[in-house]
Amino acid sequence: MEGIRRRVFVYSTTFTLCVAFAGEEIRRVKSIEMGPVKKEGVIALFDVDGTLTPARKEATPEMLQFLQELRQVVTVGVVGGSDLAKISEQLGKNTIYDYDYVFSENGLVAHKNGTLIGNQSLKTYLGEEKLKEFINFTLHYIADLDIPIKRGTFIEFREGMLNVSPIGRNCSYEERCEFEKYDKVHNVRPKMVQVLREKFSHLNLTYSIGGQISFDVFPQGWDKTFCLQFVEKEFSEIHFFGDKTYKGGNDHEIFESEKTIGHTVTSPEDTRRQCTELFL
Ligand SMILES: [Mg+2]
Repeated sequence: MEGIRRRVFVYSTTFTLCVAFAGEEIRRVKSIEMGPVKKEGVIALFDVDGTLTPARKEATPEMLQFLQELRQVVTVGVVGGSDLAKISEQLGKNTIYDYDYVFSENGLVAHKNGTLIGNQSLKTYLGEEKLKEFINFTLHYIADLDIPIKRGTFIEFREGMLNVSPIGRNCSYEERCEFEKYDKVHNVRPKMVQVLREKFSHLNLTYSIGGQISFDVFPQGWDKTFCLQFVEKEFSEIHFFGDKTYKGGNDHEIFESEKTIGHTVTSPEDTRRQCTELFL
């Protein structure tokens, strides 16, 4: 009895070892033939400024090389607030082919493997009538505004937003600084935003006061979370890496989103370190 039990044990152990060895051998041959096997359902999404590159500068060759190595293991996407021309200056002119997904203007312009898969604009979203109503009202408001000086370009029309400036964008540097000081005392921009917010509450717009002389107006949800619609069905694990993940930062919404696993980074070097630990 004891002999039979021992023999069964030896046979079953040998069988298990053979299966394990064969499995390992198949994996080894497969990885020699095909390179590392890409993890299904996992995507690493990266902010650009401060995450892949120093702010507004180009990525280093080492960083670009690293991203290509990473791409062998997981799907890689980039999501930046700038337009495609600016992102391509920072990450290379073949950017849309170098990554699986490239989301410029937070994903208003979306590329997958070099092909355009999404293109949204403020014009399409609001329609000419509502857009005209908003612009007309804003220009009237600025015309009636009594501030020390006015210049030109009070509304700049961009693909995904309007940039509104009470003094006008083509003021000089000195005039810009003077306006900023004046605005701190008289709250020209906050008051104007308050009026627009009430008047156009039905349009669900977000108002963001930034810089010295203007504020941005764009539809709610047109932050970086906008790009998630292109990946949320295909990927069960969406990692996001960004440097401005704090409240008020431009990575905050996507970092906090329950659709992503958020990672805060302090520099491009830190991004590499964290990715190596996680994926390589
Ligand atoms: Mg950033």
